Amino acid sequence: MHHFQQRNGTLFAEGVSVTELAEAHGTPLYVYSAATLKRHFEAFDSAFASMEHLTCYSVKANSNLHVLRLLASLGAGMDIVSGGELYRALLAGVPAGKIVYSGVGKKPAEIRQALEAGILMFNVESTQELLRINEVAKAMGKVAQISFRINPDVDPKTHPYISTGLKKNKFGLNIDLSLDAYALARDLPAVEPVGIDCHIGSQLTTIEPFMEALDKLLIFYDKLKAMNLDIRYLDLGGGLGINYDEEQPPHPKEFGAALTKVLGKLPLKIILEPGRVIVGNAGILVTEVLYTKQSPTKSFVIVDAAMNDLVRPSLYGSFHRVEEVTPQGRPAQDVDVVGPICESGDFLAKDRQLPEVRQGERLAVYSAGAYGFTMSSNYNSRPRAAEILVDGEQVIVARRRETFESLVAQEL
Ligand SMILES: *Cc1c(COP(=O)(O)O)cnc(C)c1O
Repeated sequence: MHHFQQRNGTLFAEGVSVTELAEAHGTPLYVYSAATLKRHFEAFDSAFASMEHLTCYSVKANSNLHVLRLLASLGAGMDIVSGGELYRALLAGVPAGKIVYSGVGKKPAEIRQALEAGILMFNVESTQELLRINEVAKAMGKVAQISFRINPDVDPKTHPYISTGLKKNKFGLNIDLSLDAYALARDLPAVEPVGIDCHIGSQLTTIEPFMEALDKLLIFYDKLKAMNLDIRYLDLGGGLGINYDEEQPPHPKEFGAALTKVLGKLPLKIILEPGRVIVGNAGILVTEVLYTKQSPTKSFVIVDAAMNDLVRPSLYGSFHRVEEVTPQGRPAQDVDVVGPICESGDFLAKDRQLPEVRQGERLAVYSAGAYGFTMSSNYNSRPRAAEILVDGEQVIVARRRETFESLVAQEL
């Protein structure tokens, strides 16, 4: 993460002091590094260079338009899960032919919107959805390219809330029932099955579950070929993990090499849908210490960022590294870093060793670029944080801080 670095005793994002950003734009504040985004995208994309492939960044990880524009300028396609994400991706200049559409609950209006735009393919998650897409496409005089999302029943060994490829999960179609789904699709007039899709979970820290899923998919691919289906795309989803704490996820290069070894010679275009691995460590959340207090058993650091800004610790018990923006060198204490929201689940860090900090000082919450702002809310009527994109010495306000007026705008 060398674009967020201590320099002369204080934290810098590329060429810009984080303290100066906080003073100019207030806190809580998301700060993203353009250089890190570029490095991560290029490291990932180049890992598949020897195969025909398309890297479709998963918009839900961080859907800020400025982030999307930057990735689009590097040649990224996008993986979307809603009409809103399609709108953003198109606005960011992503060619529709590089967009794939995932998700279990696509509405007719969203399907129409995607067909009008001319997206590459729908990743279909049920036969009812298939029938719906066929119906909408037919009415528009179009043929929709589709793949089915196959649930290969492999354990990604990650948090249960972000496991998606187990039999008990709501995602995809059971692999044993999927041949029938393809047969059904083949016989419908307004859909064309062109791919196989799979996404088994997020924050995977080993390659094995991916390879296990891939083995199953390739057996399945042979069966589809035997049915004379012209399968041209293999979408392996996202899910590659990042380092939040002590994890040692494989480098994209390693992941790419492992996949290339198995897939290199097949006549398939590989689609990848990385989210977290591109943006996770390209962003921090900056927050100010409001108060500190001791109870007989605990020390609390109360900060101005809360679960509405970054819900991952509350939702998944996730670990985010927290450090002083300007280290003071005081002795460490065991503390909970908590927000102002009226919920006991409102914490950013629990039982954490942190040097003693004082009112008015600032903390950086690391690895906040993915599933940070995008999962934020207005709970407790808190205007959402501003987002800043730093590019060298340049500061771009990627999203203005919400105001009280924006809180009530839809109610007036
Ligand atoms: C969330 C999601 C991704 C991205 O997952 P990451 O773990 O962020 O890489 C990719 N594909 C689908 C279908 C998803 O739901």
